[in-house]
Amino acid sequence: MTDKPTQHEFQAETKQVLDIVVNSLYKDKEIFIRELISNASDALEKLRRLQLTEKEIFEDDLEHEIKVTTDDTANTLTIQDFGLGMNKEELIENLGTIAHSGSKAFIEALQADGEKSDSLIGKFGVGFYSVFMVSDKVQAFTRTWKKDGSGQCWESDGSGSYSIEESSDQQRGTKVVINLKEGFSEFAKEDRVKDIIKKYSAFVQFPVSLNGEKVNTVDAIWLRSKNEIKDEEYEEFYKFQSNDYEAPLMRMHFSADAPLEINSLLFVPKRNMEKMGMFRNENKVALHCRKVLIDAEPKALFPEWLRFLKGVVDSSDLPLNVSREVMQDSELLRKLNQVLTKRFLRFLNEQSKKEPETYLEFWKEFGILIKEGAATDFTYKDDLAKLLRFESTAMEPGKLTGLDEYIDRMAKDQKEILFLFGKSRQSIEAGPYLEALKARSLEVLLLTEPVDEYVMQSVREYKEKKIISADSDELKLEKLDQEPEGKALNKKDTKSLCKWLKESLKDKVSEVETGDRLIDSPVCIVGGDGLGGASARRVMKMMQGADDGMPTSPVKLQVNQRHPIIKGLSKLLESDKETAELIANQLLDNALATANLLDDPREMIARSYKAIEKLANQ
Ligand code: ADP
Ligand code: MG
Repeated sequence: MTDKPTQHEFQAETKQVLDIVVNSLYKDKEIFIRELISNASDALEKLRRLQLTEKEIFEDDLEHEIKVTTDDTANTLTIQDFGLGMNKEELIENLGTIAHSGSKAFIEALQADGEKSDSLIGKFGVGFYSVFMVSDKVQAFTRTWKKDGSGQCWESDGSGSYSIEESSDQQRGTKVVINLKEGFSEFAKEDRVKDIIKKYSAFVQFPVSLNGEKVNTVDAIWLRSKNEIKDEEYEEFYKFQSNDYEAPLMRMHFSADAPLEINSLLFVPKRNMEKMGMFRNENKVALHCRKVLIDAEPKALFPEWLRFLKGVVDSSDLPLNVSREVMQDSELLRKLNQVLTKRFLRFLNEQSKKEPETYLEFWKEFGILIKEGAATDFTYKDDLAKLLRFESTAMEPGKLTGLDEYIDRMAKDQKEILFLFGKSRQSIEAGPYLEALKARSLEVLLLTEPVDEYVMQSVREYKEKKIISADSDELKLEKLDQEPEGKALNKKDTKSLCKWLKESLKDKVSEVETGDRLIDSPVCIVGGDGLGGASARRVMKMMQGADDGMPTSPVKLQVNQRHPIIKGLSKLLESDKETAELIANQLLDNALATANLLDDPREMIARSYKAIEKLANQ
């Protein structure tokens, strides 16, 4: 004996949502499948919890699964779950009114937004009602888990009302039968539906089958506990998720309850595609809310410089029905970003200690992106600076060191972290700057990548130690205990030589002085790290390109009053001004070249021929 169908009006707010959903030209119509599968998954999850406490459950041994079937003759799509189901009151409550999260938020946004409802619709999944984008006849057959319940059939065309009728022989759970509107028969095609399910529900924790075949292969392993998961499982998941054929280089499986509920599984690939000049990396960390995909490639989940990351972030704090556009600028996403970025940087630092070799591999591939972060992102400056690695005078060639280790090795009275930039380790070692530092046993980091100096200038300070270029005049060197070998030019002659050099080199130099820097070389350039300093100038050159036609501004020249060339030059001043000038200019160009500041060697080469010619004809 069955009752007659009863007619019901949708609640006013529901009508409003339906009206917009049905009449909008919202382009992502396919998301209704995501919404229905997510409802089915919720229903199964709720049932699973009931099974822990309730003894009397209707058809207790039914599979926990979601069955999708397409019928392109009848033009229908059916989504069935064996979840907790609904009785008549629940049907009215759940599918006739808006009491639930997503659609409610939608209504609120709608009211706040007034006219612009058309743009709003794209931002919400609006749950169950999204099915009316593609259908004008939807039936939900459902049977509650309660033993004394009965089967029901809810039916609506998505306009003002719906009907409910008793329906016998229903299995536990809910079966939504969707009669597709004209123009939407694509959703009755197996291949199309399969792609959609794969896209949105690959990691739904319950099996989803399509026309009898299982579609989702991998489960939500990020929600399982770490010590239950085998390496191979992680690897399989990574490959599936990132479309990589190789295993990942590193993984971080991380869960937190506060300040946000987060389960995340992040991977670093073995290779940096960007480095190979192929294309720009794209962050592929999918955002899920309780296993349901919200956005496969959310733009704001990580800072730009972490764009190599792959994996999943799942947070039950995310509103399920809010989609991409809204997520982009949500406060929640910013918080997630902060927590995850901090945590990931800490992870990298831990790895550098626990797995130094793996870390070095990471550095080789992705160091350039860490540098990008250190140079551009002030928020994480210290965490990023900690991760930097360079060659150093304290290490043998090829070995790298970090700022923390540098500080550990520093003498008590050393105030600054020193670096020198050059084209290679050899070229820095051959230059004039290292001599004085070596003589004082000061360690110097050897920077050889064009961006390195820029990075150091941006970081500027680490653990209250200034980071400066060793050719900067900010660096004050202690007097050596032991005078360097060789007799120096006397004070008076030195003074007049400096004066003469300044005059004859004109506006190429701002100052000529004797200094404590030089031991084996005759001259060098020194400069502050500020504007006009040699270091800053190299950075400018790097950014603008070498041949920018900018006039070179005057540099500060230091001379070594013990060096035979300088002593000779002092004498030559009296007898042969012309040759002396030739030598002075050549010395300056040599100093510029060793400081990586000589753009165009043509003039220098022409001049050196002149000098050689003189020698040859002596
Ligand atoms: P939300 O999922 O955000 O609550 P929906 O519009 O998607 O909003 O669904 C409305 C309500 O209908 C759900 O909260 C749930 O109570 C009920 N419901 C929908 N689908 C099912 C289902 N397959 N099984 C049981 N209940 C369902
Ligand atoms: Mg829902």
